[in-house]
Amino acid sequence: MNETNLKPEIGLDPANWDDIKTLGHQIIDDMVDYLKDIGNKPVWTPIPQQVKDEFKKPIPQQPADIFEVYEEFKQNIFPYHGGNIHPKFFAWVQGTGTPLGAFADLLAGVMNNNAAIGNQSALYVDKQVVNWCKELMNYPETGSGILVSGGSIANITGLIVARNTIVANAKNAGVYATTGKLTAYCSSETHNCLGKAAEVIGIGNEQLRKIAVNDNYEIDIEALKAKIKEDRENGFFPFCIIGNAGTVNTGAIDPLNELLQIARNEKIWFHIDGAFGALAKLVPAYQDKLKAIEEADSVAFDLHKWMYMQYEVGCVLFKDAATHRAAFATPVNYLTAHDRGIAAGPETISNYGMELSRGFKALKVWMSLKEHGVDKYAAMIAQNIDQAFYLGEKVKQHHDLELMAAVTMNIVCYRYNPGNLDDDQLNVLNKELLMRMQETGIAAPSSTLLNGSYAIRVANTNHRTRREHLDEMIAGTIAIGNTLMKEHDSKLFKFDFLVSK
Ligand SMILES: *Cc1c(COP(=O)(O)O)cnc(C)c1O
Repeated sequence: MNETNLKPEIGLDPANWDDIKTLGHQIIDDMVDYLKDIGNKPVWTPIPQQVKDEFKKPIPQQPADIFEVYEEFKQNIFPYHGGNIHPKFFAWVQGTGTPLGAFADLLAGVMNNNAAIGNQSALYVDKQVVNWCKELMNYPETGSGILVSGGSIANITGLIVARNTIVANAKNAGVYATTGKLTAYCSSETHNCLGKAAEVIGIGNEQLRKIAVNDNYEIDIEALKAKIKEDRENGFFPFCIIGNAGTVNTGAIDPLNELLQIARNEKIWFHIDGAFGALAKLVPAYQDKLKAIEEADSVAFDLHKWMYMQYEVGCVLFKDAATHRAAFATPVNYLTAHDRGIAAGPETISNYGMELSRGFKALKVWMSLKEHGVDKYAAMIAQNIDQAFYLGEKVKQHHDLELMAAVTMNIVCYRYNPGNLDDDQLNVLNKELLMRMQETGIAAPSSTLLNGSYAIRVANTNHRTRREHLDEMIAGTIAIGNTLMKEHDSKLFKFDFLVSK
């Protein structure tokens, strides 16, 4: 080999390390300045067409200067964030994130761990964080769990373990392990990720029985019992009940104790979807209502919602570590642990879930919990609930506003209702009102339909919110509502306009 003919070698590190340092300092300065002052900015800014066009350009062939790349980010990407870092964002159920959480993601990025395997600190931190999650839910030390991307995957993981534990040999034989079709049970208010879970575990969405709810949007216990009985009589194989600790529409908590008793009597799995609501367990007033979480076979919850952590991080816990492990562990040569070297140490986390490669999402949880301590989170969650009740009272006090569902936790559903319109008109009016509120950046609640009525829906998992922000949203609702009524009276805004769309 002629050494002089060897190609010069390349890499992806910066040509000039001082440049990346300068850029790094600039990024931190810009981002911290932005966050510090975020309350004075609109919640959300619609993306102009010319910016959207930027995202249709083909893959770059040539290198660009890192400072220019960052400029493009600042111009075309950053201003059009989703809004959930703002104190007046209440759409869907989205957490706020924190500055230190963002830095933790940066640090995890530098370490770039594959937090699946290896004798590395990330695996020990991950395990510690799962243990802390068990403490949060008062699960025994003998329990287990895994950090995943969010509630959806946490719920799917729960249902996989449920199926494989209750149905002998399901791991190998799948749903064909039983003669009767497998069925699971939840309320009609259950999040659609459980429907997806039923689809991926092979039982099919139809076999996830959606049981009717009462006036408080909680599962109807008698209807549930009757359905299980009917299914058994018809040769189905019930294997799981799913309880809601905080439904997505209204925050309703199912009667978890009763669900637990039914599951025990039926000798089937009891799983809880507590995506956000399970965290209310930290608040004394909710401890009784959520006590059954401690007895459940599994519980899914998000840290990126009501623990205000950066996306993505959710968790699912299991009462029995052995059945959790049995559902996923398969010995393979390339993942075998050794006595020494980098393959020594913790068992691969892939033995506890679907993923092999996974990021160091535990770091932001670890750093944030150290920064604030659990008591601060408990107080923060209690404050969000107090704010929701405060908002509910404000709505009740105003004669042009109507509360659409009882406030029970951190969700408030309301509408503008001046009194002289029918339900269809109110639906159109409130949809337009919400669009204008979002587009002008006043506040960003989202919407839902409650018994066919369009509701402005406020979900508060926002640590930046203060009561004054809720006051501003109410004032905005009234002002836009009044404007719409004036437009209606002068025929500028027709109530059939959006219906036909
Ligand atoms: C958000 C949510 C989910 C899904 O969680 P993701 O983290 O978005 O995947 C499931 N159930 C409920 C009640 C939720 O609010």
